[in-house]
Amino acid sequence: HQPDPAKGAAVKAADRAHVFHSWSAQELIEPLAVAGAQGSYFWDYDGNTYLDFSSGLVNANIGYQHPKVVAAIQEQAGRMTTFAPAYAIDVRAEAARLVAERTPGDLDKIFFTNGGAEAVENAVRMARLHTGRPKVLSAYRSYHGATSGAINLTGDPRRWPSDTASAGVVHFWGPYPYRSPFHSDSPEQECERALSHLADLIAFEGPQSIAAIILETVVGTAGVLVPPEGYLAGVRALCDRYGIVFVLDEVMAGFGRTGRWFAADHWDVVPDLMTFAKGVNSGYVPLGGVAISAEIAATFATRPYPGGLTYSGHPLACASAVATINAMREERIVENAADLGERVIGPALREIADRHPSVGEVRGMGVFWALDLVRSKETREPLVPYNPSAADNAPMGAFAAACKKNGLWPFVNMNRTHVVPPCTITEAEAKEGLAILDEALTTADGFTV
Ligand code: PLP
Repeated sequence: HQPDPAKGAAVKAADRAHVFHSWSAQELIEPLAVAGAQGSYFWDYDGNTYLDFSSGLVNANIGYQHPKVVAAIQEQAGRMTTFAPAYAIDVRAEAARLVAERTPGDLDKIFFTNGGAEAVENAVRMARLHTGRPKVLSAYRSYHGATSGAINLTGDPRRWPSDTASAGVVHFWGPYPYRSPFHSDSPEQECERALSHLADLIAFEGPQSIAAIILETVVGTAGVLVPPEGYLAGVRALCDRYGIVFVLDEVMAGFGRTGRWFAADHWDVVPDLMTFAKGVNSGYVPLGGVAISAEIAATFATRPYPGGLTYSGHPLACASAVATINAMREERIVENAADLGERVIGPALREIADRHPSVGEVRGMGVFWALDLVRSKETREPLVPYNPSAADNAPMGAFAAACKKNGLWPFVNMNRTHVVPPCTITEAEAKEGLAILDEALTTADGFTV
């Protein structure tokens, strides 16, 4: 790929003139103009190539431009680019079958959406109609999407400007042993206390008013929080006791990220509804969905389901999901994520943490890791505060710049960097990225006390 700075400048100028970007103060941003992407890398117009330790927005699980997925989209475009959702279409039915075969338990019916937030909206709608109850419980440390209902469920500060405070959402604390809201001393104690907190919350809100509890199986953007042993089973038991629908949000954790098809597989937990998006087709064409249990599907067996989308089960999106899932199976991509996580990435990150005063904790699995950066390992004070101002965020900005200078594109959120490369990353690529990360952490070390 030849550099073409003039084209890069023209792309940037047109972008700045007309594209309104997500989550941004429009005049304070300078988006990188990206010319192309392949596998684990992408490049700009100025001759810079980056190893992508963020997989885009943690969605390109199969890497960029996977030839089998690109070919499937091309083939489908020549055959049938679009068709309304009310019809039976070969690739739609096949995508649903391939997803349903992998989802746990009896989650065998698939409602397709265009992405994760719409999946969450529909899961909540199903839960409310199924139970006839209004409230939904979700975790403070969570992200569930940016549409009206999903942003209210979200716990992180992105909720604040859009919070309607009338959405019937009640937030709770999930387990986080390193920064325990329960002052626990061990993961076992954290699990027990987190469950007791949730049980109290249910009792005081009134179980008969609670339609659903929604949880990310492994909390993603809010910190790669792997649940302690027994937590998800405990939430399942509470839901069973009170007739509450258990929704697992696997939009980020699903489709290989944790080294299993779904993160729920690590703990053998079966929710009533499971949302997915991102890795289902690595975002080559927008797609998400809800996997539905037999019991909830039965609620809508003779009563119409009051929800739909023009592009539900879009043929191009479904064809790319079929090709993605088949390629992941044939090329053992989920196994690759598990193997590299256990053998290469996890051990390397723990070793990095030992050497860097700024790394307070390493946690994760598969290709889903976080480094919790601190000012001091003793006090565990975060390297930047919760919801940092631009000025407060300087240490993380400097760390990210140090990564980019050496060709690594990091994922950064508050005081954390997440190591979330594609599931297809090779051992050599992982080691290349980890070496750059290691060096960039000396910049973060400079802000420790
Ligand atoms: N749920 C989780 C766990 C997510 O990580 C995200 C996106 O990051 C969403 C939902 C929202 O998905 P989308 O951005 O496709 O609407």
